[in-house]
Amino acid sequence: MTVIVQKYGGTSVGSVERIQAVAERICRYRDSGTQVLAVVSAMSGETNRLESLGRSVAGKPLAREMDVLLASGEQVTIALLAMALNERGCRARSYLGDQICIRTDGNFGRARIKDIDTEALRADLAEGITPVIAGFQGVDADGNLNTLGRGGSDTTAVAIAAAVGVDECQICTDVDGVYTADPRVVDDARRLQQITFEEMLELASLGSKVLHPRSVEFAGKYRVPLRVLSSFEEGPGTLITSEKTTMEQPIVSGIAYARDEAKITMSGVPDIPGIASKILGPVSRAPIEVDMIVQNTGADGLTDFTFTVKRSDHDRALELLTAVQQSIGARELAGDNKIAKISVVGVGMRSHAGVATRMFDALAAENINILMISTSEIKISVVVAERYLELAVRCIHSEFDLGADIVAEETA
Ligand code: ADP
Ligand code: ASP
Ligand code: MG
Repeated sequence: MTVIVQKYGGTSVGSVERIQAVAERICRYRDSGTQVLAVVSAMSGETNRLESLGRSVAGKPLAREMDVLLASGEQVTIALLAMALNERGCRARSYLGDQICIRTDGNFGRARIKDIDTEALRADLAEGITPVIAGFQGVDADGNLNTLGRGGSDTTAVAIAAAVGVDECQICTDVDGVYTADPRVVDDARRLQQITFEEMLELASLGSKVLHPRSVEFAGKYRVPLRVLSSFEEGPGTLITSEKTTMEQPIVSGIAYARDEAKITMSGVPDIPGIASKILGPVSRAPIEVDMIVQNTGADGLTDFTFTVKRSDHDRALELLTAVQQSIGARELAGDNKIAKISVVGVGMRSHAGVATRMFDALAAENINILMISTSEIKISVVVAERYLELAVRCIHSEFDLGADIVAEETA
């Protein structure tokens, strides 16, 4: 018998009707000889609601308690889905993270899964019972509830798939696959038949929220066949693979964007050894994650230093650097939390020169000023003012001909 993991995201279990539809769908798979291990998210909007509830009682809510609160959303959906399945004669049993020992590393709000006890899941499968597992949560060595970071149910699904050793892990969502760009922003974005783990990991890490980055990392590491597809309609979706087997070999495979970015600039900094560590040391010890870093050599022994952080860390980073500015005698400190990062990703870039120039030309033609640039072997990222985000994504998408006109190749 084929065994698969199916993960249903927030929109897919966002109402009673949708939960009923998911139950129907799982029953159909079972009737056609496929056993499903279901992993579910909270109903759409619920985790946001819980987060603001937490913030309404405490300015800086305790991370431990925030995790207890946020993890509760998934408890509702596993119970409802298990009930709906049993109602249809499909025996099902719900599990919270700690009931199947999804062991995590204790990092509240961004925990990593260390291992999973598959005994109960295997026993259920042997008896023809469908396990319905809460995504996004685990339990640490001290018995604390941990959450995996927003969007983390994808990672639960892949981890379960790897631990049980299933035939495929399906991420069932509100789009029918991975597109060349977010289809909510680019009308003629195109569904990809396949994408490599390497490219998908870049896209996810650079902001494409269709998959949680760690789920892709996990799937690549443990060779889990991973597919993104629609919860609402049947179709092949997008397969994440080690190597592409299709004719599709574009230079750029996809575009990602991240809106929640901010940048901090310290100018008139004495240009002496150790200065980068003096500026970034307190920030990384906070700990605040620093992404892009740019330092220019200036005149008169002075330099300018700019780096980006998550928007939620902007105020804190600025506060920390005010003290640094005084101690090193820098002229000016400024923050900008209305920026966005746009990235083009593709393994095809390795063998093509001039990709960056094409991207910069496309932005220039729309009069969009580039604030920062960073490149690696298979990606180019630029930072622009947030108000240009959509326009920038669309013009880059059309510059690389990622839209509808390639459909012919896919259907050929
Ligand atoms: P779920 O609740 O099912 O986990 P998410 O909202 O986390 O769903 O992810 C699906 C969303 O990801 C889509 O609705 C789409 O707007 C967005 N998205 C961003 N980039 C892409 C992309 N390249 N391809 C497909 N969807 C994308
Ligand atoms: N419910 C969690 C969130 O909204 C986890 C998930 O949906 O993957 O982030
Ligand atoms: Mg998601």
